[in-house]
Amino acid sequence: MTPAPIARIAGLAPYALADLPEGGVSLAQNESLRAPSPQALQAAARALRDGALYPDPDWRDLREAIAEAHGLDPAAILCGAGSMELIGAIAAAYLEPGRRALQPAYGYAFFRTAGALAGAATDLVPERGFTADIDRLIEAASSETAVLWLANPGNPTGTVLSATEILRLREALPGNVLLVVDEAYGEFAEAGTVWPLVARGDTVVLRTFSKAYGLAGFRVGWGAFPPAVAREVRKPINPNNISAPAQAAAAAAMRDGAYMRETVAMTAALRDRLIETARREGLAAPESATNFALLPFSDTAAAGRAGAMLRAGGLLLRGMDGYGLPHCLRATVGREDAMAALGAALAEIRETEDAG
Ligand SMILES: *Cc1c(COP(=O)(O)O)cnc(C)c1O
Repeated sequence: MTPAPIARIAGLAPYALADLPEGGVSLAQNESLRAPSPQALQAAARALRDGALYPDPDWRDLREAIAEAHGLDPAAILCGAGSMELIGAIAAAYLEPGRRALQPAYGYAFFRTAGALAGAATDLVPERGFTADIDRLIEAASSETAVLWLANPGNPTGTVLSATEILRLREALPGNVLLVVDEAYGEFAEAGTVWPLVARGDTVVLRTFSKAYGLAGFRVGWGAFPPAVAREVRKPINPNNISAPAQAAAAAAMRDGAYMRETVAMTAALRDRLIETARREGLAAPESATNFALLPFSDTAAAGRAGAMLRAGGLLLRGMDGYGLPHCLRATVGREDAMAALGAALAEIRETEDAG
């Protein structure tokens, strides 16, 4: 016999990610189409020699690299085992039963999981098409709202709000709301960054090495936090959260900005071609400022058929049921050959649908 798990754990669904078919290509997790920077890999290899030692709990070199690249104060930066760890730590520090979180209807699903783990309910706010609606978010914020989660650019929508619009949101929100702007795809949309808002004291900006830097397997994310918020969010974080090779790889990747910008440019070109192809095949794909495209089908059944056909052809896209968009599939931008195969498959799917 064991004790029953507490209700908020028992009530969560197990993490489910579709299995990759044999020999298939995963376009399901928004991973980079490119290997990490060679400089990152060399730095990680050098760090292996000190593997008997605990990693730096203050992430000093990594924070310096980030601060230098972005013109930030190293003291404002916290690093996580992926930005998911920081999202969990923010929820642990600011959410509890009786407090509420707020996010756009098609917002990143892990925000809701983190809130549920902390025992807080999440209110979903309708979007305008596939774009977060600032006015409705402002209307929906109440005295119980402790955290507003906003991925910008959005995942899975791929759409982006301007820094001006986010400033307008912040200025209209009450002081009891901590605004968390998750810029996991910010490198693909530099115009959208809102770091200057961190100085206000009521806003956090998150970034990750998992997408544009191609280090998803190393698990490194970071954020810019106001000092009082950083002090609290640090407490629930595991003190030795990021392995030394991962810290070294991330610092070197940050210092190799040219490699990252090249990745972003290659990705953006393939992404825009994918969206063009999707539209030609009758799918109203929104513009994307990320490394993926959202593909809306005519209905849930059509998306299911398309997902199955793609899978049979070795391409694994992510179904969007969990995001309130069951008629959509999300396609990560992969290498050129995979994108060519995806384009051909979308044409075939359209022919099949037209014939049926
Ligand atoms: C991918 C993603 C993350 C997770 O990043 P990790 O740093 O790998 O934990 C966070 N937020 C959004 C919106 C993402 O798409």
